Amino acid sequence: MTKTSTKLLGKSLSELTTWVETQGQPSYRGKQLYEWLYQKGARSLSEISVFPKQWREQVQDTSIGRSIIHHRSIAPDQTRKYLLALEDGLIVETVGIPTSKRLTVCVSTQVGCAMKCDFCATGKGGFKRNLKAYEIIDQVLTVQNDFNRRVSHVVFMGMGEPLLNLKEVLVALRSINQDIGIGGRALTVSSVGIVGKIRELAEQRLQLTFALSLHAPNQELRERLIPTAVRNPLEQLLTESKDYVNLTGRRVTFEYVLLAGVNDLPAHAQELAQLVRGFQSHINLIPYNPIREASYQRPDQQRIQDFVDVLTAKQVAFSVRYSRGLAANAACGQLRASEARN
Ligand code: SAH
Repeated sequence: MTKTSTKLLGKSLSELTTWVETQGQPSYRGKQLYEWLYQKGARSLSEISVFPKQWREQVQDTSIGRSIIHHRSIAPDQTRKYLLALEDGLIVETVGIPTSKRLTVCVSTQVGCAMKCDFCATGKGGFKRNLKAYEIIDQVLTVQNDFNRRVSHVVFMGMGEPLLNLKEVLVALRSINQDIGIGGRALTVSSVGIVGKIRELAEQRLQLTFALSLHAPNQELRERLIPTAVRNPLEQLLTESKDYVNLTGRRVTFEYVLLAGVNDLPAHAQELAQLVRGFQSHINLIPYNPIREASYQRPDQQRIQDFVDVLTAKQVAFSVRYSRGLAANAACGQLRASEARN
């Protein structure tokens, strides 16, 4: 068996049990394997000491699917950014964000990104490939092991567009939820918005939060910031987001990167409030994190306050979210595929 043929990460308890049985082992070894993979974070079968030595040697080439930490940087706010080396040599980024109560992992779903949003570093580097489910699950386990602390939340907000890799993302979501044991409500999938795919996600009726990267209160401005907005009209994305609320009972999050002089005027706030009226939703305002490939500016405090005042007056639910990890280039929009270190 070659290393690439079987990956154990992502398999459920019953699938692992079937696998050990096909190896001529008693079925209770499936439970053992399950615990070593998802709770103890085993990186290879050879380290599972409860397995008979002879069998371990036989299956030592079966790959669990773990990556190697190529580089790790720690920001002053304790956010850790990892560059993980995949089996084919490509590098993907993942971020661990600790607070006193939470440990959040920001996972990537693709190496690079094809969306080319004008304010995001990932898109500037182009698209390499989709990640497999095991490569997404691995990111959660890697952060959990490195912090030596249980991960409480996972946000699909790293490199890539999750809804363009939905099949693998759904496998990863199941496993992160049921095998690693992170509650559905502690999971968030963020998308630039792909027509048809939001509804497909909604039809899964999962308890996770869906976040739509809105960034503009109208189609025209959105097209200037997000090239793919042209073939994914705002109206359609909002209709499908409503379906998400109706099918799952969960409110939708709208993300809105604040770009000085571009989308942060009080008039934009008025239009935004109008757009989400009556919508079971929450707006996350993200002051822009500077990237060297773009010349946008983060609005100053007064501009942010003026924007926020309009939303408050219109009774819109929102938060202002300053990204963590800025100093380590680990914040929203700062993840790059092409760079081994920064
Ligand atoms: N492709 C997905 C998820 C990745 S980005 C999506 O578009 O939602 C996660 C969030 O960070 C998105 O809302 C994205 O628009 C935002 N973001 C991108 N670049 C940013 C920047 N420079 N500053 C702040 N947020 C940024």
